[in-house]
Amino acid sequence: MIRISILASGSAGNAILARAGGTTLLIDAGLSAKRIQGLLDGLDDPPEGLDGVLISHEHIDHTRGVAGLCKKHGMPVFTNPFTGERLRGMGIEAEMRYFSTPSTFKVGSFLITPFTVPHDAADPVGFVLKYQESSFAVASDLGYAPKSVVNAIRGVNALLLESNHDEVMLQQHDKRPPSVKQRILSHHGHLSNRAASELITEIATPDLRHVLLAHLSEDCNSPSLAINAMRDALQKTGNTHTQVDCPGAAGAQLPFSITI
Ligand SMILES: [Zn+2]
Ligand SMILES: [Zn+2]
Repeated sequence: MIRISILASGSAGNAILARAGGTTLLIDAGLSAKRIQGLLDGLDDPPEGLDGVLISHEHIDHTRGVAGLCKKHGMPVFTNPFTGERLRGMGIEAEMRYFSTPSTFKVGSFLITPFTVPHDAADPVGFVLKYQESSFAVASDLGYAPKSVVNAIRGVNALLLESNHDEVMLQQHDKRPPSVKQRILSHHGHLSNRAASELITEIATPDLRHVLLAHLSEDCNSPSLAINAMRDALQKTGNTHTQVDCPGAAGAQLPFSITI
């Protein structure tokens, strides 16, 4: 089984803890090291240590705490060379272990398969983590879902999926300049509720037990809109048993943990 704890989600910071078979990994570390450590220590079952951090891309809401946590735990960063170069440019001094997308690699008990996502960063990726019969995919910060993403995540047991904005709320929002709206809506921006729902109809199998909606915009989305859109889509595929949660949305308690 894989134990997953969402520590933070959204434009202020993203971090996920994944544990299985005695291996403990972070996926992104976008809050300060101190805050992430505090969240880890506050878990009902706090980890004894960390074995590494997987980096999806270099944006600060995914990397803010990387340097501090690597130093504290003496752990390596798992990244690809282009993202690693950006991390070095940001002053992150840590041991970098490079993977080559989409080749599967092993960290302790986990088998990890990175997949390319379209986003405005050096070489952004999502991940599928496997341990024995359990699988968990992270697909966040992507402008759209090309076939390669669909193929990478189809059949997983749990999926953390970006459901960034409601398209109508974003278009009607008057505080965002057109250039920012354009960036979010572009092929290298962020996934809308509609796009996330469409993707789920392509990848959901009866094995999909949990969808965690992530990276919600605070002013251009609401948890109920995102959850309802996702539930409707799951219903269409006959996956009424799939649990949908929106950890990190306003009022929702974090950390949020599930076991698959
Ligand atoms: Zn982000
Ligand atoms: Zn990003």
